[in-house]
Amino acid sequence: MEDREALGFEHMGLDPRLLQAVTDLGWSRPTLIQEKAIPLALEGKDLLARARTGSGKTAAYALPMLQLLLCRKTTGPVAEQAVRGLVLVPTKELARQAQSMIQQLTAYCARDVRVANVSAAEDSASQRAVLMEKPDVVVGTPSRILSHLQQNHLKLSDSLELLVVDEADLLFSFGFEEALKSLLCHLPRIYQAFLMSATFNEDIEALKELVLHNPVTLKLQESQLPGPEQLQQFQVVCETEEDKFLLLYALLKLSLIRGKTLLFVNTLERSYRLRLFLEQFSIPTCVLNGELPLRSRCHIISQFNQGFYDCVIATDTEVLGPPAKGKQRGRGSKGNKASDPEAGVARGIDFHHVSAVLNFDLPSTPEAYIHRAGRTARANNPGIVLTFVLPTEQSHLGKIEELLSGEGEAPSLLPYHFQMEEIESFRYRCRDAMRSVTKQAIREARLKEIKEELLHSEKLKTYFEDNPRDLQLLRHDLPLHPAVVKPHLGNVPEYLVPAALRGLVQPHKKRRKQASCRKAKKAKKTQNPLHSFKHRGKKPK
Ligand code: AMP
Repeated sequence: MEDREALGFEHMGLDPRLLQAVTDLGWSRPTLIQEKAIPLALEGKDLLARARTGSGKTAAYALPMLQLLLCRKTTGPVAEQAVRGLVLVPTKELARQAQSMIQQLTAYCARDVRVANVSAAEDSASQRAVLMEKPDVVVGTPSRILSHLQQNHLKLSDSLELLVVDEADLLFSFGFEEALKSLLCHLPRIYQAFLMSATFNEDIEALKELVLHNPVTLKLQESQLPGPEQLQQFQVVCETEEDKFLLLYALLKLSLIRGKTLLFVNTLERSYRLRLFLEQFSIPTCVLNGELPLRSRCHIISQFNQGFYDCVIATDTEVLGPPAKGKQRGRGSKGNKASDPEAGVARGIDFHHVSAVLNFDLPSTPEAYIHRAGRTARANNPGIVLTFVLPTEQSHLGKIEELLSGEGEAPSLLPYHFQMEEIESFRYRCRDAMRSVTKQAIREARLKEIKEELLHSEKLKTYFEDNPRDLQLLRHDLPLHPAVVKPHLGNVPEYLVPAALRGLVQPHKKRRKQASCRKAKKAKKTQNPLHSFKHRGKKPK
């Protein structure tokens, strides 16, 4: 991040209850978007902000909104209870995320400011009851909000004071344009509005004309990725495809990569190949697969965020969503045949505290690299990106580096020197495991997971609604193909551990319980041994 004299939260004139919540969240200073947007919003300005997920944009609009609502409640004549804030988001998961953030920020004034999420289509009746109580802030997708407005469950024409349109570019690419326009007819003539979008295009320009009045535009000069003090980026040259598997196995098994890791591959088939490969060493992973029901995918992300899993395998399509330009709802990456309209919902979703992004397959475009790398080092947290590259892919990697290095800067992907000889002892096991993952095994595993997840998602939905605690016990990283798992491979005898690492690392052990999950979380905070091993193993130049 650039060096700047940040205006602290405490100097923004925010209510002490909000400041206390910010302190509890452990936020020591505002992010760039918060620093710029909050004072302007508090002055009553309309804002058009280019902000990506991970920039802290939710609090950038939520804090001034909550400040306004608290002012209404604490100064002047007692105001009638009414819906004064409306937040529009493109997906249910983002609605849940925004609601949760607002709730955390209102931890010390929850009685004064209530927030409701009305994005789930199936809960219309209960939402109606919630809306009757006129929560101060309503969060939802445009279509759900419009439906409630049309059924007179919600009335905004007299009360709305602040509108937020979040992830505006996604709202368009998800086909909410018409719903959004109809919805605007139900709003009063005057209100303050914030429009947040990761990209600016003609759709956003049109929307700006419709909802904003004399806005301040914030196109923050944020570089696409954080600087090297926050995000370390390495390229790892692997001589062969087998070396990639071998290195990954060693990095994970010897816990050289610690903390939550996102493993990126280029096709769904590769996701399952990797999952089955790692499964044989009792390294559990989940695949974020667009063919699985939305409920399952959201559950995987939410459990990953809570620390249930260390490793999630994903493709770009699943994490970045449909191409921003196309207005069709769907996606078409090779290997992904499902046509779930909400596939790719993960684009705006916040993967919490990802320590490492590992590009097992080289991203197909420089932009995809940026999006992948952007999953780590979010807000003010540190992160690391390792990109595996084969000798034949060097020129393609050059294009990525070109985009990253900007004008005249040094290349940003540092060489990651790893002495492959040190892990030669693992090669036999690696080959054996690679051989077991046949095309047939992958097909079966994929089918099995879809069947199981459908069962969890549909048949058990009602059960889990009544017994939410049991949902916590439902894991998505259990072995998919137990037939090919050889239990002895789960352990690493001391003699296989590279001499330089003996006594330093603890080979990864299978963990299933939440208690061990917590322990692991603690361990993650300790120093990452990857760095020490890397430097020990550094080849003389
Ligand atoms: P957002 O871009 O709103 O999705 O936020 C991304 C992540 O950054 C969330 O997990 C927030 O909790 C976190 N966050 C937001 N503001 C700050 C801050 N000032 N300092 C540290 N973390 C923050």
